[in-house]
Amino acid sequence: MSNRYSRQELFSSIGSEGQEKIRKKHVLIIGAGALGTGSAESFVRAGIGKLTIVDRDYVEWSNLQRQQLYEEEDAKQRIPKAVAAKRRLNQINTDVEIQAFVQDASASEIEAFVKDVDLIVDATDNFDTRMILNDISQKYQKPWIYGACVGSYGISYTIIPGKTPCLNCLLDSVPIGGLTCDTAGIISPTVQMVVAYQVSEGLKILVEDYESLRKKLVSFDLWSNQHTSISVDKLKKANCPSCGQKPIYPYLDYRNQTKTALLCGRDSVQIRPPSPVELDLEKLAQTLSKLDGKVERNPYLVSFIVGNHRLVMFKDGRALIHGTKEIEVAKTLYYRYFG
Ligand SMILES: [Zn+2]
Repeated sequence: MSNRYSRQELFSSIGSEGQEKIRKKHVLIIGAGALGTGSAESFVRAGIGKLTIVDRDYVEWSNLQRQQLYEEEDAKQRIPKAVAAKRRLNQINTDVEIQAFVQDASASEIEAFVKDVDLIVDATDNFDTRMILNDISQKYQKPWIYGACVGSYGISYTIIPGKTPCLNCLLDSVPIGGLTCDTAGIISPTVQMVVAYQVSEGLKILVEDYESLRKKLVSFDLWSNQHTSISVDKLKKANCPSCGQKPIYPYLDYRNQTKTALLCGRDSVQIRPPSPVELDLEKLAQTLSKLDGKVERNPYLVSFIVGNHRLVMFKDGRALIHGTKEIEVAKTLYYRYFG
């Protein structure tokens, strides 16, 4: 018998019974950046049955300071984060089934694989995706844990459909929208603190100890030594469009609308084709190599540097245009080289 989880089982609130529950559970993590790699590693070490992780980006040097599953080689080769994360997580615990998707976390894509998930962990960096997660959580009755951080400030909140207010209920009262950008920089302990909150709450949900959930919205600033926890029970709205009596899940209706997205703090724009395609990357690389620019490719993407821009094309036809915040400029480049 392996004693792999003995310390966790000795922890009386989990015990061997809790461990057995954890082993059967499926956790979905949206985003494989700082929060996503932190919680993925913790859940995989804790011995969950299955992990699904979704991310649209690839590893860059500026990620290595805090995105704990990645190494220099991943940044050198621009490996998609979902791929690099899966590889590392498999090395950490071969018993856990790891499913990784290199794609946008859009409504229709998440809905396609959320049904057998027991817990959703928010590790995204943008407001739109969080609101999509919130609606999906309500529609499919899946608990989810909101988490965000910037600088030395972090925030987390656990949402249980039918019990707690949802993120949409809190929008007017809590500064959630502003906390999505990484332009202010970040220190790694902020990430680890939010991860600690998310994973602790997650473990309680996985062992079905709902009584012990925090039930409050927690926020902190590690640099200015502040820690607050706010009761939000009274903020639940009977007419909330996401969790009220007649929900319309407003953020799931946007599924075909967001084709371009400005990536926060990245000087980059993402462009998605109207419907997914299967690109021949080898052929694209050959075509681009005849032009005046620098082409690099790995099995997942082609990168093309032209002037001050880097254009990155993924297999599904999605592209990241770096070096501009202007959607029109990005679109022009996209159609000129990839169109
Ligand atoms: Zn609500």
